[in-house]
Amino acid sequence: MNKFFLEIITPEKTFFRGEVESVNIPSIGGSCTILAGHQPMVFATEPGSLLITADGVTREAFMSEGFVEVRPDETVAFSEAVEWPEDINERRAAEARERAEEQLRRNRSAAEYRLNRAALQRAFARLRVKNHNHME
Ligand code: ATP
Repeated sequence: MNKFFLEIITPEKTFFRGEVESVNIPSIGGSCTILAGHQPMVFATEPGSLLITADGVTREAFMSEGFVEVRPDETVAFSEAVEWPEDINERRAAEARERAEEQLRRNRSAAEYRLNRAALQRAFARLRVKNHNHME
């Protein structure tokens, strides 16, 4: 399978940099799969599961809000936070979920509702990625 260069950057670090066969990115309105030769485009991401396939192996990670630029020679993704399953703190995500649910029950302004909805989406996505990849 043809490869292309992928770079995933957060405010804190370069999360991933290397040749891949494909990447599946959580985007608004569904996930988006990028293969070599994809037409150039820019799109927004939303919290969810990121799948990177390199050397025939697919790994899953959590990816938060951000955006992606697909260029002819490489794909670059910028996100607030990206975490491998082993780096996700399950208790912290569960607490974030409880906080967001509690705030949503209080029924505040539309702006607060949107923030709490997004926080809840991040917490659910982290918990899903962690649970998919539990090593017994
Ligand atoms: P919290 O309310 O727990 O901070 P959040 O969704 O608001 O959650 P983010 O703004 O997405 O947090 O991330 C802020 C920083 O904290 C990032 O560096 C992110 O990687 C890290 N982070 C947030 N939650 C977790 C978690 N459950 N496990 C590991 N790292 C986390």
